[in-house]
Amino acid sequence: MDLGIKGRKAIVCASSKGLGRGCAIKLAEAGVDLTLNARSAGPLEETAQYIRDTFGVNVQTVAVDITTEEGRNKVLEACPDADILVNNAGGPPPGVWSDWGQDEWQAAIQSNMLTPILLATAVLPGMISRKWGRIVNITSGSVKSPIAQLGLSNAARAGLTGFVAGTARQVAKDGVVMNNLLPGQHDTDRIGALMGNRAKTENITLDEARTRAQAALPTGKFGDPLDFGATCAFMCSEHVRFMIGQNVLLDGGAFNSTMG
Ligand code: NAP
Repeated sequence: MDLGIKGRKAIVCASSKGLGRGCAIKLAEAGVDLTLNARSAGPLEETAQYIRDTFGVNVQTVAVDITTEEGRNKVLEACPDADILVNNAGGPPPGVWSDWGQDEWQAAIQSNMLTPILLATAVLPGMISRKWGRIVNITSGSVKSPIAQLGLSNAARAGLTGFVAGTARQVAKDGVVMNNLLPGQHDTDRIGALMGNRAKTENITLDEARTRAQAALPTGKFGDPLDFGATCAFMCSEHVRFMIGQNVLLDGGAFNSTMG
């Protein structure tokens, strides 16, 4: 299927690895020019070069912390007229409710709620004036079904979801489509870290933690970041003009529900 976005410009945040990288690759496959971001320059440039070599699109990199105002400004200066914004950042650390005080909450809200809201706020005027835009926020399945040890994520991402629900309906008439993409467990470094934490808590090996987690999924295995990226690219395509303010769950069927 032609996604109809060849030659468009996208900012893909937190995209040297994992889900962000999957989104960047699939947007590049559709012919989109990219501004990629992560904190560490080495892996970011590796991903950028792989994409240039494989798909022949223009790729620039901005190695900054996207959760800081300075970092966001640098990314926006590098791509002042983005047609597409994929919001992403690292997830907060696991723990229990009693671990989290003011500092931990501020960091989670900054990373997983305020950063995507402020980036969307910065790109929306240009998208509205050009009558075309796509914003996809990588949130989490924890928005629909809480993961107890990821309470910081459950709460901060729910705030972002509320912002998108209202704003998507305000900007839709101007050709701007905003939606959220909710990952369940995908095979990335992040899931590796969470499995490490599970292995420690349950006093089992890392392999055993991975086996148990995958066995609990209807698919019997973790998701592939490239499949995730393909869904993201579709959600940035011409074909989603009528998909407004939705929460698209990619979790291998883990959320047990007949509907919704
Ligand atoms: P990952 O494999 O650890 O990759 C994270 C990427 O984000 C890396 O490129 C990392 O590069 C970059 N990054 C992290 N913090 C950043 C920051 N402050 N500024 C700029 N770049 C930053 O993680 P992932 O699995 O792709 O997860 C992506 C998001 O989805 C996370 O928020 C995670 O909580 C959420 N999620 C993931 C899963 C899953 O199963 N994988 C499930 C639910 C939700 P640098 O370290 O160099 O900055």
